[in-house]
Amino acid sequence: MTAHPSPAAPHGEPGRTPAAREPRATRVLVLNSGSSSLKYQLLDMQDGSRLALGLVERIGEETSRLVHTPLQGGGGVRRETEGAIADHQAALKAVAEELAADGLGLDSPELAAIGHRVVHGGLRFSAPTVVDDEVLAEIERLVPVAPLHNPANLTGIRTAMALRPDLPQVAVFDTAFHTTMPEAAARYAIDVETADAHRIRRYGFHGTSHAYVSRETARLLGRAPEEVNVIVLHLGNGASASAVAGGRCVDTSMGLTPLEGLVMGTRSGDVDPAVTFHLMRNAGMSADEVDVLLNKRSGLVGLCGDNDMREIRRRIDEGDARAALAFDVYIHRLKKYIGAYYAVLGRVDAVAFTAGVGENAAPVREAAIAGLEELGLAVDAGRNAVRSDEARIVSPDYARVAVAVVPTDEELEIARQSYALVSETGPERVNA
Ligand code: ADP
Repeated sequence: MTAHPSPAAPHGEPGRTPAAREPRATRVLVLNSGSSSLKYQLLDMQDGSRLALGLVERIGEETSRLVHTPLQGGGGVRRETEGAIADHQAALKAVAEELAADGLGLDSPELAAIGHRVVHGGLRFSAPTVVDDEVLAEIERLVPVAPLHNPANLTGIRTAMALRPDLPQVAVFDTAFHTTMPEAAARYAIDVETADAHRIRRYGFHGTSHAYVSRETARLLGRAPEEVNVIVLHLGNGASASAVAGGRCVDTSMGLTPLEGLVMGTRSGDVDPAVTFHLMRNAGMSADEVDVLLNKRSGLVGLCGDNDMREIRRRIDEGDARAALAFDVYIHRLKKYIGAYYAVLGRVDAVAFTAGVGENAAPVREAAIAGLEELGLAVDAGRNAVRSDEARIVSPDYARVAVAVVPTDEELEIARQSYALVSETGPERVNA
């Protein structure tokens, strides 16, 4: 493991061997690097509080923008800077300057680790991992199965390594939570040799969110994660469902790539694979054009031109038939996955809705659960209508299965996992 800065003044608990940097290094910087963006949050793992967060957008363009929000001590004023930021290195430097202006510089001995969201960890990475050259090479080897995401994630890691080579850089993989899926769920029924030669199988994504939300759902029910079976519905712009049995993922709706499964903002989700060759043979489309069609011009946008659920609901209220169709297709798919994962799990304790749509769109929750009373599922209209940032149950007391709304927090989860890995204090203290 990489060396860490040692504490200036140890003040560990009596009778306890002070760990290398246990007394002071409790902060984790979480980085989520996209191809032209860098999102970040600085958290203090003593209590999981956020000290600052922000976003750099349009990296490499003339009109890059950095939005920084200090949050410590009740929060400060949001700062926005516009101007060309050439690359991720310049972006992270600009972020470091903003943090330093708040007294949160990245050279601080209080920084314990930098946690990186990495989209594809393949089969190799089933847990958060401290990055070294060999780990970088393996993430690179996975680029063919994650061409949009892994290169950007790698750039973020390399940039952070250059800035703080002495600090542990932890990769937290979107796929990790799903590596517990049995072969029966992970295998596509295609020729095994071809599949293995090209690493074709179902990996699943949004794993950090599914892990966090399934655990928080157990907490909401007042039970241990090991005792609880949960269907998690992560409904953001990207959307995925997972079946979690006793804290372990046993099935999830995204596959080799994030295209499979639910209807999403711009992605089709499940389609007959023959749609692809049909379009290539009969519409003269190239593989890349079909890729763009299914990933960017499908889903809610393809069906009605809008991918924001608020706008779709507004149009439905005005009697717009295409918006109504888009909503119906979205709900039908969601209901099918709830039924499928009910069967996969055998017994379900809770269905948890999360992410932008899942947390905010009461009509989606109501419609997805409607008609499932025989499965012990129901939504209480009054509870479902309440708006809140807190995890809550929206099913009636009599329902056999809880329907829950559980806000996701991928950054906190990445910070927790990173800190648990590099800290001698262990996960219990981290999860306090
Ligand atoms: P991402 O996948 O980009 O992280 P989010 O989880 O932030 O997405 O979800 C974004 C989506 O959430 C929006 O496209 C919109 O459809 C939906 N959404 C956000 N707020 C609301 C709201 N108040 N009511 C209904 N839908 C909402």
